[in-house]
Amino acid sequence: MVQIYPVLLILLFSMPVFAIQPCDSGRVRLQMLGTGGPELINDSRASTGYLIWLDNKARILIDTGPGSAQNFKRSGARFQDIDLILYTHFHVDHSADLATYIKGAFFTDRSKDLQIYGPSGKDFIASAEQFTQRLFDAGTGVYPYLSAFINKEAQSSYKIKTHTIEWSYKNRNIQSIINHKDYSVQAVAVHHGPFPAFAYRVEAYGCVISFTGDMSGRLHTITDLIKDSDLLVAHNAIPEDATGVPQLLHMKPSYIGTIASDAKVKKLLLTHMMERTINRQKETISLIRKHYSGPIVFPEDLDSFNP
Ligand SMILES: [Zn+2]
Repeated sequence: MVQIYPVLLILLFSMPVFAIQPCDSGRVRLQMLGTGGPELINDSRASTGYLIWLDNKARILIDTGPGSAQNFKRSGARFQDIDLILYTHFHVDHSADLATYIKGAFFTDRSKDLQIYGPSGKDFIASAEQFTQRLFDAGTGVYPYLSAFINKEAQSSYKIKTHTIEWSYKNRNIQSIINHKDYSVQAVAVHHGPFPAFAYRVEAYGCVISFTGDMSGRLHTITDLIKDSDLLVAHNAIPEDATGVPQLLHMKPSYIGTIASDAKVKKLLLTHMMERTINRQKETISLIRKHYSGPIVFPEDLDSFNP
């Protein structure tokens, strides 16, 4: 007969109870606004952009690549509902449509401030704050006629509030960026050649959606961030036999399979398609399958996924 000692009983009942909220899948939806890369090819895909809907309201944008604003219009989303934009990094194919959104918002009844988050910069790439400043500054901006949205003194129906997240090779910790009553956002530094870049994890109503952004995997930070994701959006920008600069910037399919498996991802969505990967999807799947057994999808623009 097994004897339970009183001390063990005390231990058992004093252990914390983790209330793991099950994913309320019907309340959360991820929509693809851009599943392409930076190339000018006849693939009908916009460059990178993703939209998170909560209770049928468009709330969070991840990246604003060229063409993604056009798909935003087609999605039926209302820009006045968007709380924030998370930038993985400030390459053209991830950011160029910001001015399109801001000009378009002028014709809406948007009144709440727009929060923008993105990494710090370097000589050859803007930080989040430099990005909005250099677009909209009244004196030196590209579009000074939109400066009221960043100028505290000027009259405007809402303001753009930009937050730079410090990026460093040395800080590999997961950072808590936002704790909103409806959702939370965490970020971790990733390696995208010399360019500061972040991967993001968004949690809402017990569901987890993660985004690798562009990254090579050389900082080994991604697996903890994406742990137990219901949906992982991973960028399939290079094939397995890539060499030179591309493989310093991006993940190979075998690496995507490894992180999806290690993190116990429930569904893998492959985007950022490029000429070098778009016609090799069968090969990509078989390389990922060596590591990961869950569902693998190549979404098209405007496709939606419940977690
Ligand atoms: Zn890219």
